[in-house]
Amino acid sequence: MDYNLTEEQQFIVETARNIAQQKIKKVREHYDKTEEYPWEIVEEFRKADLFGVYIPMEYGGLGGGAFELVLAVEEISKACAGIALVLAGTALGAYPIMLYGTEEQKKKYLPDLASGKRLGAFTITEPEAGSDATATKATAKLEGDHYVLNGTKVYCTNGNAAEIYSLFFSTNPARGARGISAFIVEKGTPGFEFGRKEEKMGIRASPTYQLNFDNCKIPKENLLGREGGGLLVAQATFDVSRPGVAAQALGIAQGAMDEAFAYARTRRQFGQPVISFQAMQHKLANMAMDIEAARAMLYQTARGTKESAMVKCFCSDVAMRVTTEAVQMCGGIGYMRDFPIEKFMRDAKITQIYEGTNEIQRNEIAMMMIKEAAQAGNKK
Ligand SMILES: Cc1cc2nc3c(=O)[nH]c(=O)nc-3n(C[C@H](O)[C@H](O)[C@H](O)COP(=O)(O)OP(=O)(O)OC[C@H]3O[C@@H](n4cnc5c(N)ncnc54)[C@H](O)[C@@H]3O)c2cc1C
Repeated sequence: MDYNLTEEQQFIVETARNIAQQKIKKVREHYDKTEEYPWEIVEEFRKADLFGVYIPMEYGGLGGGAFELVLAVEEISKACAGIALVLAGTALGAYPIMLYGTEEQKKKYLPDLASGKRLGAFTITEPEAGSDATATKATAKLEGDHYVLNGTKVYCTNGNAAEIYSLFFSTNPARGARGISAFIVEKGTPGFEFGRKEEKMGIRASPTYQLNFDNCKIPKENLLGREGGGLLVAQATFDVSRPGVAAQALGIAQGAMDEAFAYARTRRQFGQPVISFQAMQHKLANMAMDIEAARAMLYQTARGTKESAMVKCFCSDVAMRVTTEAVQMCGGIGYMRDFPIEKFMRDAKITQIYEGTNEIQRNEIAMMMIKEAAQAGNKK
C-alpha cells in the first residue's frame, strides 16, 4: 500500500530501516539476554538525527511531528522493540515539555533531547497508582524557591539511562486528581535515587526502574504547566505518544511475520516447504490483513484521545495475534531462544499493557463515544 509519504518521511524510514537491519538485528539477541543498555545504537541514532524527528527546528529538531516518530519507531521495532524504546521513551519524556513547557524550559531541555545528548523518560506510575493515576501519593511541596519531592515512582522506561524526566507528584493531596502536577526533574539532583531494576518478559534491552525521592529539591521553575494540571499534561502526552506504542506494536508484528514467512518458505516437511500447506498460507494471509489494517489505521489517525486510544489498542492486539501465529508457523524452533521469533511474542505483550492497558483504552474509547453522542443530542 502506498501512503504517499513525503521525501523527508521516506528518508526517515530508510535511515531507520538501515540502522535496524544493519546494526540492530545482529546485536538484538545480545541485549535481550544481557539486559544491558544499547549505547552503541544510541550513538547510531544520534549520528542519524533520529532523536529530533518530531521536535521543532527552533529547538534543534528536524521539524516533523508525531507521525515522523511513528515511522522511525515502526522500522526499528521490526528488528527490536526494546531498542526502539531508546527513541520512544525519550519522546515520552520530551512531549510534556513540548506541549506544556515554558519558552525557557523548551530552550533548556529540548535541544539536548533532539540531539540525543541527553535521553528522556516519563513516569506517572506508582506502586498503588497504575491504571488509576489519580491515586498518586508521591508529593511535591513548595518551600520558598523550591519544590521538595518525596515518594516512589515505578516502572520508569529508560530508567537510569535517561537524564531528563517528566514526572508527576501531588502538590495538594486533598484535591485528589486535581492536586497532581507535572515536573521536570534532572538526573543527579540530590535526593533522587534509582531503586530496583525490573526483570522482564520482553523489551529487555530497555531498563525499567523504580525512582525514589527523599527530600529532593528542584527549582520551582521546573513545574510543567500549572499546579494541579498534571493529569491534563499526562493525557495530552498520551494523545500524541500512544500512536508511538501502536507503531512499536506494528513493527513487532511486521518483523515477526517477515521472519516467520522467510522460514516457512525454506523449512521442508513431507517433501515440500511448509508454506505450501493451506493452513500455513491462511495464517500468513490473516497476519498480512491484520498488519495492513493496523498500518492504515495508524497512518490515518488524527490526534485525539479517542483515536490515539483506538490505534494503540488495535495495533497492540494485532501484534499479540500475529506474533503468536508467527511462533506457530515456525513450529518448535519458533519457541527457541536462539531463533528470533519468540522474542517478538514476548516484546508484543507489553504494548497491550503500558501507556494505559487495553482495558483502559476501551474504557476511554467508549467514554468519548458516549460524550460525543450526548453532545450531538444536545445540538438537536
Ligand atoms: C515494562 C513496563 C514499562 C513501563 N513503563 C512506564 C513508564 O515509562 N512510565 C510510566 O508512567 N509507567 C510505565 N509503566 C506502567 C504501566 O503504564 C502500567 O503498568 C499500566 O498502566 C497498568 O497499571 P498496573 O500495572 O498498576 O495495573 P493495574 O492498574 O493494577 O491493572 C490490573 C488489571 O486490572 C485492569 N483494570 C484496572 N482498572 C480497570 C478499569 N477501570 N476497567 C477495566 N479494567 C481495569 C487492568 O487493565 C489490568 O488488566 C510500565 C509498565 C511496564 C510493565
